[in-house]
Amino acid sequence: MSNNGPKTTVIRNGTLIDASGNPARRNDAIIIEGNRIRSVGPLPPDIIIDDRRNVAVIDAAGQWIMPGLIDAHCHMSYGYPMIKGEGKGKGTTRPEFSTLKSARSAQKVLRSGVTSISVPGGTWFTDVGVRDAIRLGLMEGPRMFVAGRMIVTYGCIEDDEPSWEGTPDHSIGKLCNTADEMVTEVRRQGKHGVNFIKMADSRSGESQMLAKEEIAAVVGEAHRRNLKVAIHSRGAGSTRAAAEAGVDWIVHADLATDRDLDAVAKAGMPILPTATFLAVVCDLGRQQKVGAEQVQLDFNRMQRHFDLLGELMHKARKLGIRLLVGTDTGNNSFTRHGELHAKELEIFVKHGGYTPMEAIVAATRDNAMAVGLDGQVGQIAAGQFADITVWTKDPIADITILQDTKNLAWVIKDGRIVDIYPREEMLTFQQAAE
Ligand SMILES: [Zn+2]
Repeated sequence: MSNNGPKTTVIRNGTLIDASGNPARRNDAIIIEGNRIRSVGPLPPDIIIDDRRNVAVIDAAGQWIMPGLIDAHCHMSYGYPMIKGEGKGKGTTRPEFSTLKSARSAQKVLRSGVTSISVPGGTWFTDVGVRDAIRLGLMEGPRMFVAGRMIVTYGCIEDDEPSWEGTPDHSIGKLCNTADEMVTEVRRQGKHGVNFIKMADSRSGESQMLAKEEIAAVVGEAHRRNLKVAIHSRGAGSTRAAAEAGVDWIVHADLATDRDLDAVAKAGMPILPTATFLAVVCDLGRQQKVGAEQVQLDFNRMQRHFDLLGELMHKARKLGIRLLVGTDTGNNSFTRHGELHAKELEIFVKHGGYTPMEAIVAATRDNAMAVGLDGQVGQIAAGQFADITVWTKDPIADITILQDTKNLAWVIKDGRIVDIYPREEMLTFQQAAE
C-alpha cells in the first residue's frame, strides 16, 4: 500500500489483449504513471528502465496481459462467507462485523484478478464504507460501485418476513409499497453515498410486482441525483416495464419474450444475465451437495433459468443488446469471493456463442459502465486507469484459465502492484468459514 515505490511501472514484452476488440498482439512496453496508462507500444526514449529507484519493471515475456476483470454482479455484505459463531439471525447480525468481513472478502476479490466490482445490493451501508476505505487508501481492494438495500414491494424477492415484521434493518430488501416511499428511499440511500439504486421484482419472474410508474418514479429521482438504477427482473412484464421506464441496466431478463427484448433493444440499456450462480447451483444439485436446507433452490427451475439465459445471450447479439458479465458471487455460502468471477466468461463462450475475445471485452471494456467508469477503465490504452492483469497462460486459447489464480502472475490496480501472494492466509480464512 506504500506510495514510496517507483513512480513509473513498465510492463515489457508479452502478448497484449487490450480489450478494444482488436486481436491479441505482441507488445513492447506498457508505461504506467501514477494511476493511469501513459502509453502502449514501443518503449518511449525518456524511460530509463535501469533506473530502479524510479522505474519498476515487470517482464511479461511468454505471458498474456489484459485489463483487470470487472465483475458486474458481486455482493459483499450478505453475511457470506459464514463464520462459526456468527449467525445470520437477529442479535448476531451487525453492521460492524459485516463491514470487517466484507473488507477481507474485498482483498480476496482483488487478488483473483478482479480490479472492479459492481455491488447490486447489500446490508446497511456496509458497501459504501468498504468502497470508501479502499478509495481513500485505508486498505487494498477492487474499485467498488455500490447500491444499498433493494427497493421491493410486498411479495418481491427479499421481502421474506410476514407483513407484520416488514423488512428488518439487517435485511437486504427495503419495503416501499408506493412510489412516494420509493422516492424517499432513493433520497435516503443517495444521502448515505450509494452509487446506484437496486430495485427488485419477483424472485423468479412468476408475476410482475413493480408497476412501470413506480420504476419510472425511482429512475426520475435517481437520475436527477446522478445515481444509476438497476433492477432484478426475471419476468417478461417487469423487463418490458423497466426498459420503458429507462433503468440503466436490467439484471437477468430470462423470461423476457422476443417482444420484450425488442423493447430493451429500442431503449438501449444492457442486460446483466448472471448465469454463474445458476450454473453453480445446478452443479451442486447434480452432485447432490446441496442439502435439504437449500430446498428453496429448486434445481429443475434453476436449470430452466440457466438454459433461458443461454438463449438470451444469442438473442441479445441479434438484437444488438449489450450484455454485462457478472456472477452473483457472495449471494450464498457456495459462491465464494475470489473463486467464481471469471466463470461467467466460460458460460458466455460455451452457452452464449461468444468467442473468448468477445467474452473478455464484455467483462472488461463493456462492464466499465456497471462501475460508473465507461470509457475510463477496462481497456489497455493510453489515458485509461491502470488496472491490469498478467497471466501465465493464454485466455484466448482457453477462457477457463482465468478461473485459476495459479495462472495469475501480476495484478496492478490503480497503477499499483498488488501483493497477490498471501495465499496461505487466504486459505486459513476460507477454512475458518466452514
Ligand atoms: Zn445478486
